[in-house]
Amino acid sequence: MTKEKGKLVLYTGCSGVGKGTIMKELLKRDPSIRLSVSNTTRKPREGEIDGVHYNFVSREDFIRLADADGYIEYAEYCENLYGTPKRHVEELLCQGFNVFLEIEVKGGLQVMEKYPDVLSIFILPPSLEELERRLRGRGTEAEEVILSRLAEAENELKIAEKYKYRVINDELDKAVDEVLEILHKHA
Ligand code: 5GP
Repeated sequence: MTKEKGKLVLYTGCSGVGKGTIMKELLKRDPSIRLSVSNTTRKPREGEIDGVHYNFVSREDFIRLADADGYIEYAEYCENLYGTPKRHVEELLCQGFNVFLEIEVKGGLQVMEKYPDVLSIFILPPSLEELERRLRGRGTEAEEVILSRLAEAENELKIAEKYKYRVINDELDKAVDEVLEILHKHA
């Protein structure tokens, strides 16, 4: 690993767009990439591991760290808090890794403001209809959660314009290649 500081990458996409699947491939294909592990007050889904997928914390603990200025950004999304711990990301960047923040748009806007040089990439669905099909197909959320995530998606798509790059996740391999190409142009 080089001693140079890594690149901070803001990586956003609507719920169900397949950004997690793309991320898994990116991690397999490029050892310079690390995914930041966020804190969240959401309950773990089946198969999610504390400290790996998220740090699952109480609202009280979340707010304590926020008050101590311990987050690069944080936001409320569908009634849960999500935040990027500052220290964790700084350590990875100093070790020379390119650090991806897989976060939603409100947090994304905070990151763009604080770090104007951030490499911002938004993953788009081929269409809203396809997004709905994927969200339902995933089968991890209740109907009302699906509806609330779809409503969020419409707002999020408007903010995609502010990102430096937009990648459509139509075919997985193509989307992964595109993200890697963007990264290698800048890192
Ligand atoms: P999920 O509940 O599906 O894991 O995540 C819901 C949304 O929160 C996704 O768009 C995800 O990218 C976003 N998210 C995950 N971690 C963070 C974070 O640390 N900060 C912000 N602002 N959003 C996050």
